[in-house]
Amino acid sequence: MKLLNYQVVFAKPPGVNGAPAEDNFRYESCEYPADPPPGHVLVQNLYLSVDPAQRCQMNESTGAEYLLPWQLGQAIPGLGGVGKVLSSNDDGFSTGDIVMSGFFEWPWKLYFTIEADKIMKVDERLVGKRLSLPISCLGLVGLTALFGITERSQLRSLPTDGSIRRTLVVSGAAGACGHIAGQIGRLEGADRVVGICGSDTKCQFLTTQAGFDAAINYRSEDVSARLAELCPDGVHSYFDNVGGPISDAVIAQMAPGSAVVLCGQISAYNTDAPYPPPLRPEVQRLVDERGIVRERFLVLEYQDRFADGVARLARWLAAGAIKVFETEEDGLENAGKAFCSMMSGGNIGKQIVKVSDA
Ligand code: NDP
Repeated sequence: MKLLNYQVVFAKPPGVNGAPAEDNFRYESCEYPADPPPGHVLVQNLYLSVDPAQRCQMNESTGAEYLLPWQLGQAIPGLGGVGKVLSSNDDGFSTGDIVMSGFFEWPWKLYFTIEADKIMKVDERLVGKRLSLPISCLGLVGLTALFGITERSQLRSLPTDGSIRRTLVVSGAAGACGHIAGQIGRLEGADRVVGICGSDTKCQFLTTQAGFDAAINYRSEDVSARLAELCPDGVHSYFDNVGGPISDAVIAQMAPGSAVVLCGQISAYNTDAPYPPPLRPEVQRLVDERGIVRERFLVLEYQDRFADGVARLARWLAAGAIKVFETEEDGLENAGKAFCSMMSGGNIGKQIVKVSDA
């Protein structure tokens, strides 16, 4: 009997300066993979990650050497996911293993073969029945929050004698990296954690479920006025996921010698601005005058510490010290829709796509 397979292909570019739309994607049937050749495994897709960086892959030039542009008519190469091994031609994997993407390759297909060195076994003792955790926390997302905060926020170097309220601001705070970064910031010593996000529902989520002290809805509130009110000692650390006018407003209230974790600049991803987009001259002047540390941060710089990082995140999760939230879309056919929704703020926590049951 011929087995059915499906894929999502890149159907139409959004244009360099356009927001992504559902018709940029097409869902279609495709060949079921042949038996895996030596060194390969056959995988059934269980969960897909959709990521802001994929918007850059929709352009002919992605602006990052580790990201390849998507090819029209080809299955989306995908950055992350979780699957089940259906058959293996590699000593490292057995039928039934739960696996995750290693580095930046996870086809948007129901079934695919992949080189064994591009995937890793999921430690099922760490994830239990929650098989999406490798993409929502125990993988690049959680590691980005972890290393961004522990290595770049400088929270640990602030005085602990009560002379200041050590204040962390997170933009894109209700998203995947943001909601975890705020919680880790608290564990790393922030006395006050303020989130900036795009809706009242998200503000409520941050303060009632994700442990933030306060939240600002940038769509309906005056961000500068609210920051002045909520951060009377100034901002000592800023985990920046978005850039643009929100970040300009935060930087204007940063204390001398404070630090920006330059995680991402999503407000510029639908444009052809270089990454990171240059600051406006008056904002750059403030950064220089106040000695604010603001250097590009890339989680891949910490690759040699990923295993330790995942173990640390897993311990915090198991102890209830951090909570991880997800927004789930069902079905491979809805992967493009989930991506567009995430890019325009439809998610709370990590946007995942459930492709099939284990
Ligand atoms: P999120 O889950 O945070 O989803 C994106 C969110 O961005 C949306 O939910 C939306 O929330 C917000 N957003 C979209 N457009 C704008 C805008 N114009 N202004 C302000 N907010 C906007 O995504 P991730 O957590 O996966 O990624 C967050 C950031 O981290 C991205 O910039 C990404 O590129 C970066 N990143 C960096 C890594 C690194 O190594 N440096 C690794 C992984 C991610 P809202 O409703 O609040 O607008």
